Amino acid sequence: MFQGLLTLKPRCEVCGLDYAFADSADGPAVFVMLTTGFAAVGLALFIEAMWEPPFWVHLIVTLPLCALICLATLRPLKGLMVFLQFRNKAEQGRLAP
Ligand SMILES: [Zn+2]
Repeated sequence: MFQGLLTLKPRCEVCGLDYAFADSADGPAVFVMLTTGFAAVGLALFIEAMWEPPFWVHLIVTLPLCALICLATLRPLKGLMVFLQFRNKAEQGRLAP
């Protein structure tokens, strides 16, 4: 379904479905940012409350973990958004003829 990290192939290799309908825009990024941000802030607050470490500990623990979670979840979420667009026949609004 993907060529590269997030770019869709023009069509499905198995069934030939044209992915021209698929435009997830920044939908997956918003979900990833909100959920990862919530988890990362929670983790940072937990670490701070439990151990009160110096600031650089947050830089080497929370920041890479945040980037890793973003990279790991962005692609599956984009796939899910494309699937949901296809399943629900989502498209731009049009005026009825
Ligand atoms: Zn297919």
